[in-house]
Amino acid sequence: MTKFTDLNLNPKVLKAIAEAGYESPTPIQAGAIPPALEGRDVLGIAQTGTGKTASFTLPMITLLARGRARARMPRSLVLCPTRELAAQVAENFDTYTSHMKLTKALLIGGVSFKEQDTLIDKGVDVLIATPGRLLDHFERGKLILSDVKVMVVDEADRMLDMGFIPDIERIFGLTPFTRQTLFFSATMAPEIERITNTFLSNPERIEVARQSTTSDTITQKLVEFKPTRRDQTSKQKREMLREIITSEGEGCTNAIIFCNRKVDVDIVAKSLKKHGLNASPIHGDLDQSYRTRTLDGFRDGSIKFLVASDVAARGLDIPNVSHVFNYDVPSHAEDYVHRIGRTGRAGRTGVTVMISVPSDEKYLTAIENLIEQPVPRIEAPWLPTPPKPRGSKKAETAEAKPEAAIAEPKKAEPAKTEPKAEDPQPKPQPQPQSQPRSRGGRKSGGGRGGRSQSGAPVVGMGDHMPSFIALSFAERRGGEPEETSAKPTDAAPAPEAASDEDAA
Ligand code: AMP
Repeated sequence: MTKFTDLNLNPKVLKAIAEAGYESPTPIQAGAIPPALEGRDVLGIAQTGTGKTASFTLPMITLLARGRARARMPRSLVLCPTRELAAQVAENFDTYTSHMKLTKALLIGGVSFKEQDTLIDKGVDVLIATPGRLLDHFERGKLILSDVKVMVVDEADRMLDMGFIPDIERIFGLTPFTRQTLFFSATMAPEIERITNTFLSNPERIEVARQSTTSDTITQKLVEFKPTRRDQTSKQKREMLREIITSEGEGCTNAIIFCNRKVDVDIVAKSLKKHGLNASPIHGDLDQSYRTRTLDGFRDGSIKFLVASDVAARGLDIPNVSHVFNYDVPSHAEDYVHRIGRTGRAGRTGVTVMISVPSDEKYLTAIENLIEQPVPRIEAPWLPTPPKPRGSKKAETAEAKPEAAIAEPKKAEPAKTEPKAEDPQPKPQPQPQSQPRSRGGRKSGGGRGGRSQSGAPVVGMGDHMPSFIALSFAERRGGEPEETSAKPTDAAPAPEAASDEDAA
């Protein structure tokens, strides 16, 4: 087995990693460090949790140990897709350079330019940045990239998801042709392949096992949940979530709760708080200082439940998470693996519970295909009460079946039954082209379950009611038919468009 001492790293780096408690290099480190130290380009296909941050930082700081940065001319560049990841790389950099005199600047959005300018003006060895903020500094004339000797692109596949590839290409073009490139991606999508073919020169390719397997230390559970009324799906899911958390008992010391959409992150966090749980949201639209405080709070235990979107939580290294709850089934199967990988880390045990609704079926199938096992179903700890039929006893023809309630949108009155501030129903979002359209979309031409078309007997009128009664008020006045207040929501809201998740 390779040892760190075999890798030709600077002795001060070796000292720092020994102090960090690292005993031996991980496979990506053993594979990437030697070619990187030889000055070669590296293409690392590896996920978070494999030790990839050290695999580029350790050789980079060894190479930079000699020489000094000039004002506004950083000697190396690390590009990360999110602020949190950039901050995490910066923290790792501090750990590994604890015995060296290298300087760094962290350029991320949500932090004032002034402080960052001061650091850049002094000259930094390592610039760790999100692409947007880096280009902002460049455009303001504050940054010169012609002295960059090593450029790292971290989580390139996430950059692609977030629409940062044009920025990355531009940044490549601003750095010298002779620079060394260390490029990391969890997957090799065609667009990523194109970038690496264009900008990397004969790279050493190191691939560590794709994270399609889930750790044995994680107990996975799935609650298949059928809401009694489609318009109440969100509300009932939140209730289900609380019941699941309660049913996990004291073993649930802290948890990350994943939602697919930022709007739901906010709503779920607010709802949990309202019910007395210590929860905070984290997603890309929140102010940076709030995000930092939230993460610190979650790490130090003052926040127990972190409600998160995928991108905000991507790559976060938070040890000791007892539970991961999937409030939504992720629409990308690999996100399931990432999400649940937040628990059961480093040999510890962890529990994950996911809530699925009928419209999640195809996503669930994709997940189970990826992990090559079914997610064990458990009995729901709570079931919503079916809605009471309205009107006289004759209305029992509808039998208050959950399905009947869903098929009769006329009966649903979300505005009246859902608490206002807590429960804004997210607007259906445009579906990304790659996503198959969810079923249950509104049919053209009268699919609204209009009163005159429902076919259900009208209570108190018998079956022979005068035809004008079947018309809406507007129709009676000769206008357009009224919208029913309770049209069914389309089966599933579109998954969050990754590109709007976070910005530099
Ligand atoms: P990363 O994949 O870079 O996010 O690293 C995941 C975690 O593994 C971080 O907490 C690192 O501090 C830790 N780590 C990285 N390399 C090693 C190593 N060789 N031995 C032990 N822990 C490591």
